[in-house]
Amino acid sequence: MTQNGPRANSEAIARRGVMFVVSSPSGAGKTTLTRTLIEKETNIGLSVSVTTRARRPSEIDGVHYRFISMRQFEIMRDSGELLEWAAVHGNHYGTPREPVEQALAQGRDVLFDIDWQGTQQICEKMRADVVSVFVLPPSAAELKSRLERRAEDSSEVIARRLRNAADELPHWDEYDYVLINRDLEECFSQLRAILTAERLRRMLRSDLDVCVAQLLADLKRITS
Ligand code: 5GP
Repeated sequence: MTQNGPRANSEAIARRGVMFVVSSPSGAGKTTLTRTLIEKETNIGLSVSVTTRARRPSEIDGVHYRFISMRQFEIMRDSGELLEWAAVHGNHYGTPREPVEQALAQGRDVLFDIDWQGTQQICEKMRADVVSVFVLPPSAAELKSRLERRAEDSSEVIARRLRNAADELPHWDEYDYVLINRDLEECFSQLRAILTAERLRRMLRSDLDVCVAQLLADLKRITS
């Protein structure tokens, strides 16, 4: 790509980042998909939620979640520090507002691993910035066996997550895109393709303003 002309100028323009939301019932593979996306893509960061649930052995405080008490959660929620929040599986989860607003303003994309309740709330507030993806498991049996294979939750917690899947699944049609995770690799490349296409769409929008303004200015100069 050349360094001169309207296109080079447009690249210097800060675009607003995309809010890339991925939801699914627990065990559909969403966490693996989102972690892989963060590893392989640049210019996108995970929104680290706060939660009142207990940390799993594989989780790192401040990386996967910030683990906080119910009292701390209430303080954050009541002082408007959360962009959205919800009670899921008997625990509370929320998205801290400030890091998201900063990233978007700097043109960085933000990945959200949140449920349908949180997705509805951020769509109400910032619809134009949101791209939402729902991941379906290939079958109920596979959902159950993935939760069991993960072996990080008690059988009681697994049973509750399966019951909650019945509340989450009917919301699939509120999302921009729906993927069926039959094969992790294939599903990941579809997820990545969505991000790529959405970035191009948004970049083109900000490119166009600058491109057209420059073209008009140049036209005026050469025709006058
Ligand atoms: P888990 O306990 O398995 O990490 O997450 C349980 C559910 O809570 C998942 O569906 C996950 O997407 C959702 N979740 C995680 N963080 C948030 C959040 O900040 N807000 C909302 N609304 N849901 C969240």
